[in-house]
Amino acid sequence: MTRNLLVYSGARASLAVKGSSIANRRKGSMLANYSQVAQTNRTEPARLHKVVVVGAGFGGVMAVNALKGAPVEITVLDRSNSHVFQPLLYQVGSCALPANDIAWPIRQIFAKRPEVTTLMGEVCKVDRHKQEVFMKDDPYPVPYDTLILASGARDSYFGNDHWEKYAPGLKTLQDATTIRRRLLLAFELAEREEDPERRKSLLTFAMVGGGPTGVELAGQIAQMAHSTLPKEFRNIDTKKARVVLIEAGPRLLSAFPEDLSMYAKHALEDLGVEVWLEKAVSDITADNIQAGDQVLDCKTIFWAAGVQASPAHEWIGAKANRTGCIKVKKDLSVAGYENIFAIGDTAEVMQADGSRVPGIAPAAKQMGTYVGRKIRKRIDGRDDEKPFRYVDMGSLATIGKRKAVIRYKALEMKGALAWWLWGIAHIYFLINIRSRMSVGLNWLYNFTRNMRGSRIITQDAVEEYSASRRDSRVREEHCMKKE
Ligand SMILES: Cc1cc2nc3c(=O)[nH]c(=O)nc-3n(C[C@H](O)[C@H](O)[C@H](O)COP(=O)(O)OP(=O)(O)OC[C@H]3O[C@@H](n4cnc5c(N)ncnc54)[C@H](O)[C@@H]3O)c2cc1C
Repeated sequence: MTRNLLVYSGARASLAVKGSSIANRRKGSMLANYSQVAQTNRTEPARLHKVVVVGAGFGGVMAVNALKGAPVEITVLDRSNSHVFQPLLYQVGSCALPANDIAWPIRQIFAKRPEVTTLMGEVCKVDRHKQEVFMKDDPYPVPYDTLILASGARDSYFGNDHWEKYAPGLKTLQDATTIRRRLLLAFELAEREEDPERRKSLLTFAMVGGGPTGVELAGQIAQMAHSTLPKEFRNIDTKKARVVLIEAGPRLLSAFPEDLSMYAKHALEDLGVEVWLEKAVSDITADNIQAGDQVLDCKTIFWAAGVQASPAHEWIGAKANRTGCIKVKKDLSVAGYENIFAIGDTAEVMQADGSRVPGIAPAAKQMGTYVGRKIRKRIDGRDDEKPFRYVDMGSLATIGKRKAVIRYKALEMKGALAWWLWGIAHIYFLINIRSRMSVGLNWLYNFTRNMRGSRIITQDAVEEYSASRRDSRVREEHCMKKE
């Protein structure tokens, strides 16, 4: 087998690639399977294997990293222009960190990889026969030889999608800034509100879902209301703000051992969070939330209760589980399509013991690395069919200042030491030194001064604020007319 021309030096491969991707995309290009590409001989110019990666999250970025130096031409498609460190989204939502500390432009990440082209656009369709990917509002498909679907997950409202406008979830940077805006706006509106009932409902915050995101966000909101804000408001006592965490199951953090769940519940209660267990949400409106037999009047509700995969299975017509995850084979390829892989939160990967690989960042990263290496081996003609094996890196969740829980295999840890380890691990996993330093300094500032540095309300919020004031005036006029 002559794979000699494919084993370019990095520089030559780069030259071959530069300028070719967009041109090929517009004209379409001849497709080739692994062996056709590998058999290019010395007299013909090498035709690089085209890898298209949908989604530059943890899985997608690691797949591209694992293909470094391989004779491939990579196109990364993402609907956003940034790679987001989702585990810290709640810190943006709760004003502890600015958005650019946890997100990086995708094209900057791959700036030194000329063989990688980044296109911003929302994928909406895949033509498996022509091997082309389509983006919304773009007539030009992107051709591939190998496709990696790494488009992650989104919120699930269990068939009640109309709840979303009252109870935004936390999956993207935009969600985090929406949550931050609503949170800050609630305090601003309460400060100007004269009706005590309405003020009370503005100062009541409900979080739905007792997993790590719900626990972390509830803890942060309580800390902000009870410690950071009190001295800044004149007409309201932010210490009286109610933060309610609602969970349908019998305990918080169900993926952790029971004693750590209990610890998390008590730690939240110490922060002033009300924890409602075994209360399934049955309705959400602009003014209240119904959970079990309770109706809670509140204006600000956040959702962290359900997850479903991106619609990638629909694009390729693949088998999916209940939550839309593509059922993949042991090598993460999609049954019937050896050149399509699904990884991370959009894939259902089963382990030898019958359990499912969890939808967490280390799993997505490991899958990305595995698939990148596999594609490289296939091109080299030395695919060893070794199945993907997930290495458990443990789980962490923080509850508030100096309180966190860690589970690593049989080891359990809670309290201040767990909190420091949680902080160090998260700083370590950020993508570059600037972000690590910035997050470290921001946390130090928040920790020592009890402050939150990212509390600027944007123009959108000003409009939302005015609309809300108009609403309340309309209501007042309406009441006066009645009298
Ligand atoms: C709030 C929150 C907190 C979390 N905390 C933790 C934690 O503490 N520890 C942990 O291990 N895990 C945590 N996770 C889970 C972890 O972040 C995910 O498991 C991981 O991000 C999955 O990686 P992925 O590559 O599959 O998808 P993602 O990282 O979600 O990336 C998917 C990418 O695909 C893009 N995309 C989606 N649809 C399209 C489309 N149609 N067209 C183009 N692009 C598209 C998105 O813009 C995104 O860039 C958390 C998740 C959330 C939401």
